[in-house]
Amino acid sequence: MIYYKTDEEIELLRQSNVLVGRTLAEVGRRIKPGVETLALDKCAEQFIRDNNAVPGFLDYEGFPNTLCISINEEVVHGIPSKRVLKEGDIVSIDCGVLKNDFYGDSAFSFPVGEVKKDVSQLLFETRKALEIGVQNAVENKRIGDIGNSIQSHVENCGYSVVREMVGHGIGRSLHEEPQVPNYGRRGHGIKLREGLVIAIEPMINLGKRNVYQAEDGWTIVTRDKKPSAHFEHTVVVRKRKVDVLSTFEYIDEVLNSK
Ligand code: MG
Ligand code: MG
Repeated sequence: MIYYKTDEEIELLRQSNVLVGRTLAEVGRRIKPGVETLALDKCAEQFIRDNNAVPGFLDYEGFPNTLCISINEEVVHGIPSKRVLKEGDIVSIDCGVLKNDFYGDSAFSFPVGEVKKDVSQLLFETRKALEIGVQNAVENKRIGDIGNSIQSHVENCGYSVVREMVGHGIGRSLHEEPQVPNYGRRGHGIKLREGLVIAIEPMINLGKRNVYQAEDGWTIVTRDKKPSAHFEHTVVVRKRKVDVLSTFEYIDEVLNSK
């Protein structure tokens, strides 16, 4: 069952998603060598609660924290811990909030200090793949057009698309139909209609696409142990041009001032 949102619901979704963007910026401000990932998680939880919302991932299917924090070869769903960030790491931060009964969901991969050229290129191109996918979220295109545009871009760069996890509809539930794969065939899948709200979230590996789940029961890791990047926006399908509800604006301000 797909829930198409009213304009009123979309404005509530926008508030939730802007809060996610501001939370990611607060976290991004603190990312540097020597920082414990659990400290980033606590900062995010406090910021979300201070803004009259609750963490969207905490206790979701038993997830123990506010943020998913995934370092280097960890793709997604990493659990915050006493692990300390090191110079040259990349860290993918995925954040969800629930406010006024609607979810926000967005993710950003940050460099820690100076990272190797091939790794910073992976971050740049994965973010670009997300932007390309987002531009395809317009009425009368199909789900496969989004996935195909992402896949084409990253495979042209020599990277690979993780298949096991996909984007999703979002609203009163964190994960709604339809699924939004980051791969696919042009012209295939359901037709996009105005008011459809989806999270588009390419998970892109520098090496091969294969992944496995770690023994903690959550963290997804690349088989070849090469790094992986993850960027995510929540967007509304509109007739002519997509409306992006989440934002990297606050994150970019922080990164530009570092
Ligand atoms: Mg997410
Ligand atoms: Mg998501």
